[in-house]
Amino acid sequence: MNERDSEQVARSLIARCYERVSCETEADVVLLNTCSVRDMAEQKALGKMGMLGRMAKSRPETIFGFLGCMAQARGAELLKEIPHLDLVVGTQKFHRVGDYVDDLIARKRATLATVVERSLNRIDDLRFSIVDVEEEVGSQSTIRDQSLTPKQATAFVSIMQGCNMHCTFCIVPRTRGAERSRTIAEIASEVRALVAEGVKEVTLLGQIVNLYGRHEFPIVAAVYDRRNEALIEEPAVIDRRYRKSPFVQLLEAVSAIDGLERLRFTSPHPIGFRDDLIDAMSRLPKLAEHVHLPLQSGSNRILKAMHRTYTAEKYAQLVGRIRAARPGIAITTDIIVGFPGETDSDYKATRDLVEELQFDNGFIFRYSPRRETPAATMPDQIDESVKESRNQDLLGIINASTRRGNERLVGTDVEVLCEGLSKANPARLMGRTRTNKVVVFEAEENRIGKIFEVAIERANGFSLYGQPID
Ligand code: SF4
Repeated sequence: MNERDSEQVARSLIARCYERVSCETEADVVLLNTCSVRDMAEQKALGKMGMLGRMAKSRPETIFGFLGCMAQARGAELLKEIPHLDLVVGTQKFHRVGDYVDDLIARKRATLATVVERSLNRIDDLRFSIVDVEEEVGSQSTIRDQSLTPKQATAFVSIMQGCNMHCTFCIVPRTRGAERSRTIAEIASEVRALVAEGVKEVTLLGQIVNLYGRHEFPIVAAVYDRRNEALIEEPAVIDRRYRKSPFVQLLEAVSAIDGLERLRFTSPHPIGFRDDLIDAMSRLPKLAEHVHLPLQSGSNRILKAMHRTYTAEKYAQLVGRIRAARPGIAITTDIIVGFPGETDSDYKATRDLVEELQFDNGFIFRYSPRRETPAATMPDQIDESVKESRNQDLLGIINASTRRGNERLVGTDVEVLCEGLSKANPARLMGRTRTNKVVVFEAEENRIGKIFEVAIERANGFSLYGQPID
């Protein structure tokens, strides 16, 4: 989501005749889009901006700004911490960045002219600041313009902002606000424009993507008639068994766009995975065979303390139902270890569930207290060394199941969408399978942006290697 937001800001500046440069030392405007999900992400952003202080001294006309979640959570206090900071813009105001940057440049230039006339020592006169972390009605519809690179085949599309779930460890409801969704028509029109420019795969983005539109748009009743391959819609009668959520309505609308080959979404909440979505997984062929489904913990006691509103048993059943609806689907997850009060037996419940479910991949996080979240002040905070040992242990289990899943593909042919040069070895190309696994291969660059089969010859922990099949 941050990547997408950054892209939107970059595009808005380019539209005002700014140019991208490859290194911050060449830039007149340096904006860091920040994450608050863990303390380490905030410390990295603060450290990076602090290091840019030297550049601010030698080039005082440069504009420095923090955008995004940390800017939203900390607001004007960041100006005290970082003296050369000019701009702090929160998560509902990305579309105002261009105006603020123009304004700051004009004010600095005007002042610089008078300072140079008077004395070069009056460089402190160049300290201006703009802070905007207000809420804005309709801001969910402002992340909508895309600037594609040549042959870009994949794109993110932001469909909603905010979250009303209030998991006790999570700062997102505070930094991103309440759930607000764009309309289906707006989203479909953005996807159509992307496809017209050559995009083949779209990932729909939202903090709880599968609860899209639940406060704004109606549920419609629908029965899928498998014999006649058609939806029978009857809005007057909404039986729970037959309802079709706004998210499923959106998936259908986007799936129907000609030229779109693959559709993904991230990240869903287990409680939003209802029958209509599972049904959609089985009947919408463009939906790629991958679901990222955050588990967070395998202990019911900890899930309750996290306010995750499902049990380990329900989660496991859900995984079974998704796998039955779409054979071969890859399931990845997020897990937090060391949540306050997590005992050895709670951790063992997580470990056992992870062993049982055999995820295709997973991101393990050591619990990081976030200020003004309920979990930060819960008793029995866990020692960092315990978090670290649980993290390493769980990582070992997940990595082993990832490796096993990848090794099973050796000797098979898989469909790959070629995204570009491999980062590790630019002499090779890389792409992704429908199950979101990375495949590296040697081929001509004219393959970029195309979909084709690759014969998988070997696998390591995270990537597959093979040869394109002509
Ligand atoms: S559902 Fe996700 S974004 Fe929302 S509060 Fe929970 S962890 Fe945070």
